[in-house]
Amino acid sequence: MNLRPLALCLLLTFVLPAPVLADGLPDLGDVSQGDMSPAMERRIGEQVMHEIRRDPAWLGDPEVNAYLNRLGNGLAAHAEGPGQGFELFALRDPTLNAFALPGGFIGVHTGLILAAESESELASVLAHEISHVTQHHQARMMNKAGQGQIASIASLVVAILAARSNPDVAMGAAVAGQAANIQNQLNYSRDFEREADRVGLGLLERSGYDVRGMESFFGRMQRYGRLYDNNAPGYLRTHPLTSERIADVGNRIQGLPYKQVPDSLEFQFVRAKLRAGEGDVRDAVTYFKTQIKERTFSGNEAAVHYGLSQSYMRAGNMAAAEQALAEVRRFKVDLPMVATLAAELRMKQNDAPGATKILRAAYSHNPQERAVVYALIDALLAVQQPQEALKVASDDLVGNSSDATVHALQAKTYAALGQRLQQHRAQAEAYALNGRLAAAIEQLQLAQKTGDGGFYEQSQVDARLRQFQERLEEEKKLMKMSK
Ligand SMILES: [Zn+2]
Repeated sequence: MNLRPLALCLLLTFVLPAPVLADGLPDLGDVSQGDMSPAMERRIGEQVMHEIRRDPAWLGDPEVNAYLNRLGNGLAAHAEGPGQGFELFALRDPTLNAFALPGGFIGVHTGLILAAESESELASVLAHEISHVTQHHQARMMNKAGQGQIASIASLVVAILAARSNPDVAMGAAVAGQAANIQNQLNYSRDFEREADRVGLGLLERSGYDVRGMESFFGRMQRYGRLYDNNAPGYLRTHPLTSERIADVGNRIQGLPYKQVPDSLEFQFVRAKLRAGEGDVRDAVTYFKTQIKERTFSGNEAAVHYGLSQSYMRAGNMAAAEQALAEVRRFKVDLPMVATLAAELRMKQNDAPGATKILRAAYSHNPQERAVVYALIDALLAVQQPQEALKVASDDLVGNSSDATVHALQAKTYAALGQRLQQHRAQAEAYALNGRLAAAIEQLQLAQKTGDGGFYEQSQVDARLRQFQERLEEEKKLMKMSK
């Protein structure tokens, strides 16, 4: 049973009285009234993200995630009220699901991205999720649970995520019990579902997508769900798709002007990349080859060749991958995804200088593109240009100081340069950003012991260490770690 989709359900069930929680789950403490501050929501979300990033389903593909973030934050920009930043990420999971965690984190299953037949369809599900967050549905539910329970809520979410990959542990039974109790919450959640649909439709419309995408995707998901019986796919469990809901959406969009919205190139390339990474690699090759041969693809032809190239690369057939890439180039597509694939192919054929050249050019045009920055630093290290790698990392951190991956890559460049104090300092930043404060503190203590670096660098390390230690103390107090 796939329990990950229960992350949102969990928040629905969390307001249930304590007795539904079986032994082995954290003590929820007293339930009292209080406000869940945005900072607290964020902390819960970060705690959960810390676990999700270690899950085998974590895709961690900077191009897929960058796309989802552009799409999601583009929709959110049209929300009413104060702007909120969202962090979207993909999980490799064939079920149709998306879920919002506290603090603006939104997970999207690759199955959902592949099932969407248009970008408007994918956008409609994201708009629905974003609306749960902007309407404070979760905060309203968590408020009922009382204040100061961050650790409990976070560990409960984590327990559910853990049970997903290991259903046999005792936790599984408790979680299944909770899932059964969701039924009790349906009245409550139905209002929220209707509101998320209504607000989400507004976002879709103002962002210029085809609002009919919501009706068509929901309808298709409902039919898909019928095949599953009790074991309905995640999205349908966490956001029950009733005929009434679909009819409501249908009524709302009646009379709105018909609009043909073409899918973005990036949507098509991201889907091709995901499809190339799914299942048996021979099937993936055949899938794209057949589409090209029979000309059955609906969107841009370049995306199909790109998918074929990715599939061949995965199959280890570099010559065929290069050939398919040459086909992509014929269409003069202006996407950094083409350059990163070309560079990856070069690297896989032990041509780091070739990869570096491609990435330097891509970087000069797209200095903010995460995948390009990461790949360029790696390639520069491979051709033993640590000074230039360091410059790319340091320049990037000026505007992207919360990018843990760049901090980790900067640590690698310092290691290559033999600057050990700076190496541990940069690694500490990477750990802290991923919610691993204790590991960050350890790195700073190692930095203190290296004995290299000047007075200024050493006092910087000392100051940062004190900050992290204070933050850890504060967190411990706030979390009141139960168990
Ligand atoms: Zn929903």
